Amino acid sequence: MSEFIPNPAPRPLNYLDEEFWNHCADGILCFQCCIDCETWRHIPRFMCANCGSEKWGWRQSNGRGTVYSWTVCHMPMSREFEKDFPYAVLVVEMEEGVRITAGLKGMDYKDLKIGLPVEVVFEPLEGGGQLPFFRPVSA
Ligand SMILES: [Zn+2]
Repeated sequence: MSEFIPNPAPRPLNYLDEEFWNHCADGILCFQCCIDCETWRHIPRFMCANCGSEKWGWRQSNGRGTVYSWTVCHMPMSREFEKDFPYAVLVVEMEEGVRITAGLKGMDYKDLKIGLPVEVVFEPLEGGGQLPFFRPVSA
């Protein structure tokens, strides 16, 4: 049996990334929303792509969306992920309109379908923080 290596913690690129991950650490999925035109956005950035405004705030997502696309990793790119492969990486279109990339939980990737309703679930990281994953919405 191979040595257990925990998932790596996110490495924020700037304070906006850091704020996104801090919300995740609290178990809350938040995205930026433009104050001027109400357009949600992700990944975190300084300016609205819709209207150019630099005024924004964090808003809590309802955590629900649908599978927009996915890929299956059959070959781990680092040792941290060897324990999990093969695994799916999803692009989820959130009900707020933004798309987010995250892992899959609670079902076999072979049963994935475009448009499948999913909801966010957080998984704690060793050493603090949490990563968002998506699982199928139970009927
Ligand atoms: Zn805007």
